[in-house]
Amino acid sequence: MAPARPPAGLCDSCRHQRLVPNTRGSVFSLCERSRTDPAYPRYPRLPVLSCPGFEPVPPPAPEPPR
Ligand code: SF4
Repeated sequence: MAPARPPAGLCDSCRHQRLVPNTRGSVFSLCERSRTDPAYPRYPRLPVLSCPGFEPVPPPAPEPPR
């Protein structure tokens, strides 16, 4: 069963989110933008309701024709 975690709001559909599990079974929402831009906290306070850095996760690539 997947570990429970609180909804992260916008981050859950943002391409800059990385989910980081810890050894106690919790999962944290890390913002990859924090690596290059100090304006973004590494672990934003959730749920994130608005964010200027939000970029949607790209849709999955279409299946190649057979
Ligand atoms: S850029 Fe904003 S919305 Fe995207 S993961 Fe970081 S804090 Fe969340």
